Amino acid sequence: MVVGGPGSGKGVLCRRLVDECDVSHVSCGDLLRSEVEADTPLGREVAGIMLRGELVSSALIVTLLRRRMRSFGGRRLLLDGFPRSRDNAIDFEAQCGRPELALHLVCDEEKMLERILRRAQTEGRADDTRKAAVRRIAVYRQQSEPTLEWLR
Ligand code: UDP
Ligand code: MG
Repeated sequence: MVVGGPGSGKGVLCRRLVDECDVSHVSCGDLLRSEVEADTPLGREVAGIMLRGELVSSALIVTLLRRRMRSFGGRRLLLDGFPRSRDNAIDFEAQCGRPELALHLVCDEEKMLERILRRAQTEGRADDTRKAAVRRIAVYRQQSEPTLEWLR
């Protein structure tokens, strides 16, 4: 598991680990974005939530994640951007088992915002607006301590 605020470098770190350590990677944000792009019923349900920078329900992301993990046949996986809340962690453990290791990326909020606004110019993610980014950072500030406590 790799956790850290929005724009803290989770994706960048995970891509390096994939290249250098022969491990597979699932980005939970990408998992959700592909549902939105495919315009599935689930995607339609989560699109607005993501645009506002809120978290989708824990049951939903864990179900999606479990389905994806099954397709890797029980191999070791890097989960990028999960868990986002203590509920996420508890639901994950109940459905998928105990995680092996968690990495926590520490980053200043100003730095996160700066990086999100910078990548907005190249990546074009719908939720990389200032308003959504500020909300995502606030949600992270609220949820991270109980989540980290569980992971510790
Ligand atoms: N998200 C969520 N639960 C998760 C992972 C992602 O609700 O476990 C949603 C949430 O709305 C978040 C968005 O997906 O703002 C994008 O997540 P991602 O990890 O891609 O964003 P990052 O933190 O890397 O900017
Ligand atoms: Mg990411």
